[in-house]
Amino acid sequence: MHLVALPALADNYIWLQHDDDGHALVVDPGEAEPVERALRERGLSLRAILLTHHHQDHIGGVEALRRNHAAEVYAPHDLRIDHANQRLADGDTLELATPAARFDVIAVPGHTLSHIAYAGEGVLFCGDTLFSLGCGRLFEGTPAQMLASLDRLAALPGDLQVCCAHEYTAANGRFAREIDGGNAALEARLAEVARLRTAYQPTLPVPLERERQTNPFLRVDDPALVGWAARRGIGTLDREARFAAIRAAKDAYPG
Ligand code: ZN
Ligand code: FE
Repeated sequence: MHLVALPALADNYIWLQHDDDGHALVVDPGEAEPVERALRERGLSLRAILLTHHHQDHIGGVEALRRNHAAEVYAPHDLRIDHANQRLADGDTLELATPAARFDVIAVPGHTLSHIAYAGEGVLFCGDTLFSLGCGRLFEGTPAQMLASLDRLAALPGDLQVCCAHEYTAANGRFAREIDGGNAALEARLAEVARLRTAYQPTLPVPLERERQTNPFLRVDDPALVGWAARRGIGTLDREARFAAIRAAKDAYPG
């Protein structure tokens, strides 16, 4: 399977995977036009649309794509998402015939309550749950829910390529350095991110293993972040409070 990041809207990525016979799937098409162009340019036929959550920047292109293509639409159980043929829940396996693909469905409440992620084919489509060097804002879920969701994603094989739905890495990295400044893996990633963005290249996908080494929201048990929280009066055993404090500090961080 080939993997392509299609830039869309202000800073979204629509992920496209296709096989050698030209069968394609896309994830979270917030608009149809970049997908149509990619299909045309690459001579692909769209067979499946995978959705992670109900936000408009992830589903805005679904109706138009469904009108023009014989594509099945897979979505979480959430009535705020129309135009789905099949609903998926935690523990389900999504098996596609064309392109031949198999994904494990993982419920990841936090950013929204019905958010799901897809893991398989060497990639993790995690929508707005896990970002490179960051995580999604808590619009509907609690810090405890989001932490549990990120724990589950972090436990997946480290060679999975993390395909997030937004290019937020550089801004996330500025905050990560604030609270995890001595982290050499983070410094190396930041240098790489600066190089990529200067060349107008995506910073994604990124192997999950590198996120475990660099993403503060996956490093709540690391001594550096335990120390950061302790200096703010958070007990060293309270990892939920630590996660909530990191998320709140990020929310308050400029840019
Ligand atoms: Zn969202
Ligand atoms: Fe989004």
